[in-house]
Amino acid sequence: MFHIADSQDIKSGKITDMYFIRTGQVLRAKGIDKRAVAEVTLKGTPAEWSWGVLAGVEELAWLLRDLPIDVYAYAEGTLFDPGQPVVVLEGMYLDYCVYETALLGLLCQASGIATKASRCKKAAGQRQVLSFGARRMHPALAPMIERNAYIGGCDGVAVVKSGEMIGEPARGTMPHALILLIGDTTEAALAFHEAIEPAVKRVVLIDTLGDEKVEALKVAQAMGENLYGIRLDTPASRRGDLLQILKEVRWELDYRGFNHVKLFVSGGLDEYQIAGLNEGADAYGVGTSISNAPVVNFSFDIVEIDDLPIAKKGKDSGRKQVWRCRKCGQTKVLPAHHSGDRCYNCSGQCEALLKPLIKQGKLVADLPKPQEIRRYVLQQIVHRKLF
Ligand SMILES: [Zn+2]
Repeated sequence: MFHIADSQDIKSGKITDMYFIRTGQVLRAKGIDKRAVAEVTLKGTPAEWSWGVLAGVEELAWLLRDLPIDVYAYAEGTLFDPGQPVVVLEGMYLDYCVYETALLGLLCQASGIATKASRCKKAAGQRQVLSFGARRMHPALAPMIERNAYIGGCDGVAVVKSGEMIGEPARGTMPHALILLIGDTTEAALAFHEAIEPAVKRVVLIDTLGDEKVEALKVAQAMGENLYGIRLDTPASRRGDLLQILKEVRWELDYRGFNHVKLFVSGGLDEYQIAGLNEGADAYGVGTSISNAPVVNFSFDIVEIDDLPIAKKGKDSGRKQVWRCRKCGQTKVLPAHHSGDRCYNCSGQCEALLKPLIKQGKLVADLPKPQEIRRYVLQQIVHRKLF
């Protein structure tokens, strides 16, 4: 059997750390059941990230609906900075105590993947970025990983099931295996062209056997206008200067009139390498750096009990609201009883980012489609710095 929890295990609170079960036992034994406000906040972003993309909100709603509590959250895909509460729970503590483990897991991993995907897309500019990294992770997680890669900004995903779940056709043409089994790159390209429906763009992998330049020209000459692009997945041991290889292939193709042929690059890419290859590449396949993105270390902290502000050392007590200026993007965290609808920077109108998601177990927010979330992310990252 596969070593995974099913939806019912998660929904019933079985994916919890034991100490929450024991906390519940102690509180019940002593007859203590208090109303508590708890918030999800990030202390510091991983690595050199200065902002993150909040993801996992739809699954969070799925986890917490039906509990007799209220939940407020940033809309999925909203950019956040350290120190901002992005999700707030309010209710009797015993009603949500055992869900802390699962709710953090949903938000931390999804947000890490979405943020990394955003960074790759931001580095690539107008060039396409496809998510190819599901194979490095447990297959049960592939749809979650690729949904978050997509909403973070990837233009497409590779796994069939992931594509079905987000409503986008899975992308991808041929692995090295096809060329090895047919025995020749050009023959494999022609066989692909013959066997695969015309709607699929012909992107031919040209680094399997011979030199990238020679193979690219052979394939272009054999396929002409039918060739949409070539993909270089050149192994690290042969790379040398990959940008120089791309430029050389581009030159040779253009010289012979194959200006329409796009250059796809894959193999161990991240946002730093993408930034260094843009001069020569038209599109990227990104694998492990997105699927195995660092998690965003959100923490979950009580900030109010029975209407009184209280928090552990190192955390700010009290219920809060986060306001973001619609005009200049300036964001501030204020006590919930203060209004922050005017920007102190430009006096523009501010928006309250923590919006009702669940009221007494009922979902009260619209859950946008992945395509809408992705558009929202892409609008916001225009104004953010990458490095
Ligand atoms: Zn402003």
